[in-house]
Amino acid sequence: MPIQILPAQLANQIAAGEVVERPASVIKELVENSLDAGADRIEVEVDKGGHKRILIRDNGSGIGKQELTLALSRHATSKIHCLDDLEQIISLGFRGEALASISSVSRLTLTSKPQAQPEAWQAIAEGRDMRVRLIPAAHPDGTSVEVLDLFFNTPARRKFLRTEKTEFQHIDEVIRRIALSRFDTAFSLKHNGKLLRQYPKAASQAARQKRVALVCGQGFAQQALTISSELQGLSLHGWLSLEPASQPDQQYFYVNGRMMRDKLIHHAIRQAFEGWLPQEAHPAFVLYLTLDAREVDVNVHPAKHEVRFHQARLVHDFIFRALQDALEQPAPEQTPATLS
Ligand code: ADP
Ligand code: MG
Repeated sequence: MPIQILPAQLANQIAAGEVVERPASVIKELVENSLDAGADRIEVEVDKGGHKRILIRDNGSGIGKQELTLALSRHATSKIHCLDDLEQIISLGFRGEALASISSVSRLTLTSKPQAQPEAWQAIAEGRDMRVRLIPAAHPDGTSVEVLDLFFNTPARRKFLRTEKTEFQHIDEVIRRIALSRFDTAFSLKHNGKLLRQYPKAASQAARQKRVALVCGQGFAQQALTISSELQGLSLHGWLSLEPASQPDQQYFYVNGRMMRDKLIHHAIRQAFEGWLPQEAHPAFVLYLTLDAREVDVNVHPAKHEVRFHQARLVHDFIFRALQDALEQPAPEQTPATLS
């Protein structure tokens, strides 16, 4: 076969293979876009486990009519402009791939109205040839993205979709993770027309605690130890529980507000818990690590689940020490955690 440049849709579908695994991954990408757009209210609606329909509605900055089509093309982003920006990423997105990828494997409409634009516009991507139609629409300030028939044109991916119930559980988990990362934003989640989750904005400490209890259960919120530790530009805050869990499903770790599943971090946590929990038990925690954005590389994995720390040893030992100190403290009168 001669060498040729792949058609745009095929290239996007290949990229989609990396980030769009299932409906929950679509929701993660779209909600992160809403957060990057400064939204403080994000509504998520899904039908049939997200397979049939996903709708994300936000009250963020919106996208102007002249940029709607561009937003759907690959490598189009407003979040970085040069290599220097890549070295210190503060937004959740930066690859400019999510909308292009998702629209190549679904029927996507993007409707948006920036505050300064009197009317809303809608871009319709048919998922076939990456051509976009633009029509006027009715929409308040902000953006809605609707994704219909995910994987309708990629049967291999569609085969991997699980039952409606399982896919919804993954979606619910994505929303929990994000809800714990942003207390300043209200989230709601509807499935098949039923409002199932509601996390109101949590400004006060009591409200934050309520959100943690909603996500992690009253049991966790009541007996969790508070972590608060700082050293050389690193800080670790949050909660951890000494109640052994049989499943590793209450492990929330954020690096600069981004949810992570990182080997180095897990190793440090495991090590700190050694002797505190039975071997087969899983620690439960909600922890927030913050450090200078230049000290961490988030451009390691397309779905950004992993990071690379420039000073891996320092970060590892800091986390280990912070948790060990907290565990070794004689149990004080526990007050609910304060989050920064
Ligand atoms: P990335 O998030 O990596 O920049 P995306 O493909 O997810 O790439 O989005 C492309 C661009 O579209 C973003 O950089 C942003 O400018 C714009 N955009 C996407 N979603 C929203 C939204 N909900 N509100 C405002 N702008 C958005
Ligand atoms: Mg994005």
